[in-house]
Amino acid sequence: MHLTRFLRFPQQSLAHLIDHYAKYPPTGLTMKRIVEFAREGDAKQSYLFLRNELPVRLASMMKEMGHLPPRLLEMPSVKTVNGWYGTSLTELHTFKELPATGDSVKKFTEVLQNIRKRHSTVIETLAQGYMEFSDQAAIKEYEESQIQYFLNRFYLSRISIRLLIYQHTMCFGEEVPIHPTHLGFVDPNCLVEEIIKDAFENAQFLCEGYYLTAPPLELRKINAVNAEEPIAIAYVPSHLYHIMFELFKNSMRATVEHAESKKISTPLPPVVVDVVKAKEDLTIRISDRGGGIPRSKADKIFRYMYSTAPRPVSLVDSQHSGPTPLAGFGYGLPISRLYARYFNGDLEIHSIDGYGTDAYIYLQAVEDQASEWLPICNRAA
Ligand code: ADP
Ligand code: MG
Repeated sequence: MHLTRFLRFPQQSLAHLIDHYAKYPPTGLTMKRIVEFAREGDAKQSYLFLRNELPVRLASMMKEMGHLPPRLLEMPSVKTVNGWYGTSLTELHTFKELPATGDSVKKFTEVLQNIRKRHSTVIETLAQGYMEFSDQAAIKEYEESQIQYFLNRFYLSRISIRLLIYQHTMCFGEEVPIHPTHLGFVDPNCLVEEIIKDAFENAQFLCEGYYLTAPPLELRKINAVNAEEPIAIAYVPSHLYHIMFELFKNSMRATVEHAESKKISTPLPPVVVDVVKAKEDLTIRISDRGGGIPRSKADKIFRYMYSTAPRPVSLVDSQHSGPTPLAGFGYGLPISRLYARYFNGDLEIHSIDGYGTDAYIYLQAVEDQASEWLPICNRAA
């Protein structure tokens, strides 16, 4: 069935649609609500919520995008991303007044799947635009902080949109969750240790491929709520994996390069991970002995594009030769912090210059305290 069959309303201009939807604030959810809805909700309810909520979240980001420096907006990659957002918003809008029949819900689910595919390389594509922009001419300081501020909000919004889409297509569509006990994209009983080990092994594989060596893992855990039980919370496994993978790559690179610079040939010091679950927080600390970060650089490490590694060939085109580098785009820490903050957690880095770094990941162990952290737009614009 073609989409135009659903176009019963006069097509409005895109600018009008953006203005319309961006007027509304997003409706934030909690992990508890998401889990309950995955268990008890149905496709129609989900449709009725999302056909409004998704356009609201997309439109507010498009509106913000419009305030970026004009020269950045002219970058082909930025235009591409803008175009994807426009297409998706227009597609979603066609469902605005459609009754929740089986047919329209089915079509809606297909549209969501397409949107997810269309937007799958948003991070890299926008990053490419920012990189080209910064290569063209020196970025002014106010532009830089404006872009950094925008990217945080934009990528955060994208994380939220993807989660909502996955929850619909996996819980109520034909897409199956990665694991039978998962509720869509969410695991109500996410085994933290498994994810840590998995992320570590994959980072280690990359590290060995690039440096021919990698530090070992030392994992220590305490379940302060119930010592007998494995450590688990309701969480999005892929989010936790992403955070851990990025932090491990950073720690491994630092450990190997620091040892090389000191001409230490003895076994590399381990990356030590402490996982503690208490009543409120789940805390993961990753400690490395990779020489640390001087305080003069500490406020830069969460900036997009800040990296002390040589820049890899291309972000979008992965057809480069040689081993995959562990670092260089400067997106690891800022994106990981967004994932951590998204459900009311956080990510902090504390360093001892000349010695090593501790990364702290804080996650909410209480499901109804884990509420979506969303960019709320400034509606004065
Ligand atoms: P990238 O890894 O692509 O450089 P990140 O955002 O992951 O980007 O990290 C930014 C920078 O922060 C790194 O280039 C490095 O200089 C510094 N850094 C991050 N983690 C560590 C660490 N564990 N030890 C030392 N330096 C670190
Ligand atoms: Mg990194």
